[in-house]
Amino acid sequence: MLENIRIVLVNTSHTGNIGSVARAMKTMGLSQLVLVDPVSKPDSQASALAAGATDVLHGARIVDTLAEAIADCGLVIGTSARNRTLDWPLLEPRGAAAKLLSESPRYPVALVFGRESSGLTNDELQQCNFHVHIPANPDYSSLNLAMAVQALSYEIRMQWLENAKGQAPNDSTAKGQALNASTAKGQALNDAAAESPIELIDYPRADDLERFFVHLEQTLGETGFIIKQHPGQVMAKLRRMFARARPEEAELNILRGILTSIDKKIR
Ligand code: SAH
Repeated sequence: MLENIRIVLVNTSHTGNIGSVARAMKTMGLSQLVLVDPVSKPDSQASALAAGATDVLHGARIVDTLAEAIADCGLVIGTSARNRTLDWPLLEPRGAAAKLLSESPRYPVALVFGRESSGLTNDELQQCNFHVHIPANPDYSSLNLAMAVQALSYEIRMQWLENAKGQAPNDSTAKGQALNASTAKGQALNDAAAESPIELIDYPRADDLERFFVHLEQTLGETGFIIKQHPGQVMAKLRRMFARARPEEAELNILRGILTSIDKKIR
């Protein structure tokens, strides 16, 4: 489960922060680090601050864009130091941890962190299914990047330990049976009290969702609903609506089929 949880750092300025993030991750059992266009590649300063976590640091994948970092992820949660910068589906840190763990058995999931100076851009935040905000002092809510990674990784670990407790073999077998027996769509609660439910819905991967938005924008451009020179906020609002609805893979296929049928009609 933890191997499928990816920490993504966007455009980090200070290599020391990257090292500290690697250390924060390893202490909590996380290992998958992706750096999107870091200002400088990890250097000796990064290694010094990574301390015993240089394996996580050296294993970090470096990519050019956020889209590349999250392409294969079925769940992407973006972090924000400000509360409700964009009115997006918002999770508490604990809820975010539970969601990441409930979906990580099915596909890679990502937690995305922004620049030290300016956080994530609106465009980057709009590529996420949910946002999470650490409810810090409202007068001073911006944590150091690595501290924010530490706080959220800690929540993931706490939830993971809870889940592990519930799945211990000497624990009642009923929970294991509940997991296996549940074929119903939706969520299989393996323990109503403490554990993360295992998500059974097939959600589209980030790159499929992105292709859908490109298709939607193209079709709406061709019907004339979106005027290319003055696109306004239509796509941002539609993205938010789809983030709220969170279509399943099968539903997304229907929507793409609808777009294709419109394309055929107007060509
Ligand atoms: N001045 C920036 C702060 C960036 S802090 C801004 O206003 O957005 C660097 C990164 O640390 C953020 O992009 C976010 O990923 C994380 N972070 C800092 N404080 C946070 C908080 N309270 N909740 C969630 N993430 C936080």
